[in-house]
Amino acid sequence: MNIDTTAATRHFIELEETFGAHNYHPLDVVLERGQGVFMWDVEGRRYYDFLSAYSAVNQGHCHPRIIAALTEQAQRLTLTSRAFYNNRLGECEELMAKTFGYDKVLMMNSGAEANETALKLARKWAYKAKGIPEGQAKIIAVTDNFHGRTLGVISASTEESSTKEFGPFLPGFEIIPYDDLPALEAALQDPHVCAFWVEPIQGEAGVVVPQAGYLAGAATLCKQHNVLLLVDEVQTGFGRTGTLLASHHEGVRPDIVILGKALSGGVMPVSAVLADDEVMLCIQPGEHGSTFGGNPLACAVAIASIQVLQDERLPENAERLGQIFRRRMEALAQTVSCIRFVRGKGLLNAIGIAPKPDGRTAWDLCLALRDRGLLAKPTREHIIRLAPPLVMTEAQLDECCAIIEDAVRAYDA
Ligand code: PLP
Repeated sequence: MNIDTTAATRHFIELEETFGAHNYHPLDVVLERGQGVFMWDVEGRRYYDFLSAYSAVNQGHCHPRIIAALTEQAQRLTLTSRAFYNNRLGECEELMAKTFGYDKVLMMNSGAEANETALKLARKWAYKAKGIPEGQAKIIAVTDNFHGRTLGVISASTEESSTKEFGPFLPGFEIIPYDDLPALEAALQDPHVCAFWVEPIQGEAGVVVPQAGYLAGAATLCKQHNVLLLVDEVQTGFGRTGTLLASHHEGVRPDIVILGKALSGGVMPVSAVLADDEVMLCIQPGEHGSTFGGNPLACAVAIASIQVLQDERLPENAERLGQIFRRRMEALAQTVSCIRFVRGKGLLNAIGIAPKPDGRTAWDLCLALRDRGLLAKPTREHIIRLAPPLVMTEAQLDECCAIIEDAVRAYDA
């Protein structure tokens, strides 16, 4: 089946092209509705969602409990600013602190903002607790990181498309290779280092899974050198990799956890950082904040999103289905020449696709998937991330594997 680009689809694409900034390159499909693991386009076609809005929709599209919490709260109180207390923030903070096992929570909106918050907290701790001379704190980051698009976080990016012609950048970062403990140990010798900032699996870089023991080793080294471990779980958190946090695979408890995306089940931007008192209380009233951070609407949504994740045992489902999915994809890779690798954890997976001599690439394979009713997108040129909502059933996963197998075989031919 080849998709028809009808007048309606063309109309909506043209509107975005004409009046919107060209900062994304979407696949040609115009979506208007979502429920669970499915989305529908303006022409009524149904698709399996294999991107989950970059892992924001772990609980599935328009989860009824989350939407009920949203609509109920939306009719009572949406925003007070933090000039006053509200009756949902403390409840949300308590649930998060107890769920993840930290003393305190600081709520923001986007994932990038949560990362900025973590960087600011680490610097404050550097001067107030570690005793680094003011203005000299250093944060270690890694190659191919992705922490968002704000100027602070792109200052540590090694990706040209994120940084070119956006300088000058924020000083105070040292970049070392990802998945390289000796490089970390060498960098930690500098007494001005206050933090090591890392993703447990690099999602945007193509679902890069470090060697077993990397995060645990990093945690040990950080402790030895009195350096904070900042773990960005914006994409890997909330069950995506088969555990509540990806850090849990190695029994690691980061000093600062950075969360976003699925904290709201994809309903609105809600993010947060978690830390214990000795770090979090370094920030005093008036030193950091956001008008919308911790608003009652976001809190009501976050509470429902966490409860859904727990009640429906979504991390366990991601772990079980992830095993099945990788087995199917690895078996497929044995029978075709175009799959370079299959990798991932839980339901955060990727396949590497070899370009064809006739010029076809992973992009063309994504178009073929779309035409068969499954939406995914390349991350980096030759890697397709495959990350459905965690509410998927085994029967649905089975059907999706068959779609992917069919499209890959056709691409391979
Ligand atoms: N950190 C990680 C690991 C991410 O994957 C992303 C987004 O993809 C972000 C941060 C940025 O989140 P946001 O787009 O909500 O600012």
